[in-house]
Amino acid sequence: MMVNEFKALREKIAAFSLAGNMLSWDMSTGGSKKGMDYRSKMIGQFTKLHLELLTGAEMKNCLVNLEQSYDTLDEVVKRMYVLTKKAYDQQIKIPNDEAVAYAELQARAQMIWEEAKEKKDYALFKDVLAEILAYLKKFVGYRGYEAHPYNPLLDDYEEGMTVEILERYFEELKKGIVPLVKAVTEKELPYNLAFLERSFPIEKQKEFCLLLVKDLGFDLEAGHIDESVHPFTSAMHIKDVRFTIRYFENMFTSALFSAAHEGGHGLYEQHIDEQYEFTGLDTGVSSGIHESQSRMYENMICRSKPFWEYYYPKLKAFFPDQLFDTTLDDFYAGINKVENSLIRVEADELTYSLHVIIRYEIEKAIMENQVTVDELPSLWNKKMKEYMNLDVPDDEQGILQDVHWSFGLFGYFPTYSIGSAYAAQFYQAMLEAFDVPDDLRKGNYNNVNDWLKNHIHKFGSFKRPEKVLLDATGKRFDSKYYVEYLTSKYKSLYNL
Ligand SMILES: [Zn+2]
Repeated sequence: MMVNEFKALREKIAAFSLAGNMLSWDMSTGGSKKGMDYRSKMIGQFTKLHLELLTGAEMKNCLVNLEQSYDTLDEVVKRMYVLTKKAYDQQIKIPNDEAVAYAELQARAQMIWEEAKEKKDYALFKDVLAEILAYLKKFVGYRGYEAHPYNPLLDDYEEGMTVEILERYFEELKKGIVPLVKAVTEKELPYNLAFLERSFPIEKQKEFCLLLVKDLGFDLEAGHIDESVHPFTSAMHIKDVRFTIRYFENMFTSALFSAAHEGGHGLYEQHIDEQYEFTGLDTGVSSGIHESQSRMYENMICRSKPFWEYYYPKLKAFFPDQLFDTTLDDFYAGINKVENSLIRVEADELTYSLHVIIRYEIEKAIMENQVTVDELPSLWNKKMKEYMNLDVPDDEQGILQDVHWSFGLFGYFPTYSIGSAYAAQFYQAMLEAFDVPDDLRKGNYNNVNDWLKNHIHKFGSFKRPEKVLLDATGKRFDSKYYVEYLTSKYKSLYNL
């Protein structure tokens, strides 16, 4: 048996992943603009070494050997084998030089996207986007697929996800929320929401966000917080989890809820059992499950009334000039106000999935070769009109708003909505286990953290996503929890 050789190889791969993550982190949090080309090249070199380890003769040998002795392996090694074999099979079909060129392209494209977004000019980005899409389609061709060319990309971020599952899910969701959005946006909230427009000094915002994530349980001695254009979390190791926040002086709630959101991603990573260190199982199992945790902290917890019953006086003490005339009810209504809006990351909980549906439909059309790169902005704007009844004033607030496509992240957006739906299902199970609102009213997050840790976080990637959901909630994935959660929350807030 070659279990020890296999584990040693996995540890080497972990070192390369770490280095790659560090380089990306550095690029997003302060790497110079002029250093873009050299960094892209170095990332390309790293990718090459990483791939040689993953697809080399030594690994091939290990995998053949482990396959033969599969039944005698312990459960952790079995899962390590399954995930490594999947990555191996995927990668082996793609010529190494193309994979390396693609990694360099991804690194370059991100900086080009930043510039195009700043100049509100999609034309600057479209050629590099076309290159990315050409690679992705070619790779999908190498890998092969069943039923739909979008499926392999969906499966990359959510094991087992398909167009078929998503079509059904989004249909159920639309049926549940589109009429609700309509009813809600026709009503005025009878509260004083002036605070939403006020200016909150950025230094104080930073202080408060730090306090919040510490209170929620994020361990700053095993992590780090920085700033970037697009907030994200990067897990170097269970004891080195980093995330970013972005601050706007005139939109305080943006930083507040991205702190809770990224903090949720961070807690997931920090709570993973140390036995999985360096095995490849030492990170969140899928984008959907990851997103369920960030949304759990952001929405179910930090946008709930009981949470602010405890926390609002603290906030008011921080910002007496901005919140002098704002009651708890005003504040709660303000942070949950529903409106059709242009920007996904600033969207309220209810319209959020509509933003995801727009991206899903566009990506599916791209993979079906139904739309060219030149036509994307007009398709985007058309869908914005259809779902939100809004005109898009420029590309920055339209098609260029998200960083994802510049990384080649196609198939990723649906996990945001699926994650919210998982979160609602997890939350229902947690409510049945103990009195969550009562804890939140007391500012006690221990039971919440323990429940999430013991049912979800500690397993890392050891269990498949659907197994995590089934074991934690006793039920298979069902969109009804999400629809019920949204319906009850917004009917009550809007008095419908
Ligand atoms: Zn997230």
